[in-house]
Amino acid sequence: MTFSILCQLHGGCLGCCGKDFSSKERIERALQANTAEFKIINPKVKAQLLKFRDRYHPADLYFGVCRNIIKIDGKTFCPLHPKRNNDEDLRINHCNPYYLCRTAIKFNSWKEEKKNKFLQFIESKKLDDLDYSILIDNGKLLDEFEEKNNHISSGRP
Ligand code: SF4
Ligand code: SF4
Repeated sequence: MTFSILCQLHGGCLGCCGKDFSSKERIERALQANTAEFKIINPKVKAQLLKFRDRYHPADLYFGVCRNIIKIDGKTFCPLHPKRNNDEDLRINHCNPYYLCRTAIKFNSWKEEKKNKFLQFIESKKLDDLDYSILIDNGKLLDEFEEKNNHISSGRP
């Protein structure tokens, strides 16, 4: 399974579950709409989850957000993810489950010490879940962290 612990921080990252996010308010509205539809269908078994998944074409996004990402009790997640479905990946044929953003690829390649520094850096930012998702996906947190690190290691004031 393609995975990074970054995908689970801040209540769950949705950075790669959309395109062209226009505003946090619109992302929140899309999450609310998806979650309401999920609760109506209330899928418990695979066939019902596929029915939920297939209610819209994969390219039919809501304010740039995938129609499957939901938020329950402050946790944002994809109900099609293998971790929720006995290791069966119901995202296949809908999105690219093997995708990792630039930040996650880089993070996964680091040694533990640098990973921990990045996690502390993220923590220091006190971001909400949506800002976290957007800034991880667009690589801005990564770039700022790398620039800060390079600055320190070069000895520049
Ligand atoms: S944007 Fe990156 S960190 Fe977030 S869920 Fe996608 S791959 Fe994971
Ligand atoms: S199917 Fe799930 S993992 Fe794939 S883009 Fe939609 S919400 Fe994200």
